[in-house]
Amino acid sequence: MTSSSFFPPQRTLMGPGPSDVPARVLAALSRPTIGHLDPLFVSLMDDIKSLLQYAFQSDNALTLPVSAPGSAGMEACFVNLLSPGDTVIVCSNGVFGGRMIENVKRCGANAVVVEDEWGKPVSVDKVAAAFERHPEANLLAFVHAETSTGVYSDVAALCALAKQHNALSIVDTVTSLGGMELRVDAWGADALYSGTQKCLSCVPGISPVTFSPAAVERIKQRKHPVQSWFLDMQLVMGYWGGESKRAYHHTAPVNALYALHESLLMLKEEGLEAAWARHQLNHQALVAGLEAMGLEMAVDAAHRLPQLNSVRIPEGVDDAAVRSALLNEFDLEIGAGLGALAGKTWRIGLMGHSSSARHVLICLAALESVLH
Ligand code: PLP
Repeated sequence: MTSSSFFPPQRTLMGPGPSDVPARVLAALSRPTIGHLDPLFVSLMDDIKSLLQYAFQSDNALTLPVSAPGSAGMEACFVNLLSPGDTVIVCSNGVFGGRMIENVKRCGANAVVVEDEWGKPVSVDKVAAAFERHPEANLLAFVHAETSTGVYSDVAALCALAKQHNALSIVDTVTSLGGMELRVDAWGADALYSGTQKCLSCVPGISPVTFSPAAVERIKQRKHPVQSWFLDMQLVMGYWGGESKRAYHHTAPVNALYALHESLLMLKEEGLEAAWARHQLNHQALVAGLEAMGLEMAVDAAHRLPQLNSVRIPEGVDDAAVRSALLNEFDLEIGAGLGALAGKTWRIGLMGHSSSARHVLICLAALESVLH
């Protein structure tokens, strides 16, 4: 077999991520590669940092893109803030909460798990009760936007509870950043990680993170070295920190960062609140269309993510056959149910550039054609 260049088809991406990447971002990716310590690249890094601070609505000095996907951002938060023997209250209401528990255990810390049903938000009352039972807990971890179910939880209330109990908070904002209200400083959140492939509509493989001054203080006071050399923020700060001269830590994904810069610029040009409102409007249009076709949403309206719509698969409909017909006949990708929801739901993403009237109409028309 002779190998040849790879030319993927032009899909319409309406799954749980990646979302469609705008031509403007792809064009940025193909600009000439320069060195990761080139003074011009260093000034781009400063700009990326301030655009990320805008996206997160935070003045946190330690705000940067980790050179690896969202899972690495998750790991960066846990390994830097936890030490062996710590007690962590960790909330599980879907797949990604489950991964947080795994991270806590692998740090040698004790996970006090607060379980909520898949498809429901994290219960603030249950978390309050867990803090009462475990006054030694020094961290609370939860997912803002659970991509596996399409549900959001109350970041402001949960972070306030953590503060009240002198604990820091880790919040997964992989699916929320850019797609729904998130105000890191106003809500008092301490360590947050995200991904580039969802509502930022950038290429996958980078994880924006931000750490509050209290989180940085805990990192500086650590007695146990962070078990991961690559994700040790004290070392990464030498390259991204901005306090001293930037020193080599690893070779940054230079072109992918051009793409991230462009996508953050597009978010700034649109305006964060306008982007949140666009996601909400397209979500409402999609839900209205799906319900008019007789389909049912899987999540209560009060906790639905605008950017990730969980839809019940009707009785007798072949899940995989529908998804492959959408892909093969319409070049349209939607997501399958994950974990406990496999075979029960479809997950329709309206994330970033994929949150548009055009996407809503394509999806409704294609589903109508395949289902009826
Ligand atoms: N957390 C959430 C809520 C996610 O949706 C995802 C990815 O879908 C991740 C973490 C992991 O991100 P990545 O796949 O970029 O490693």
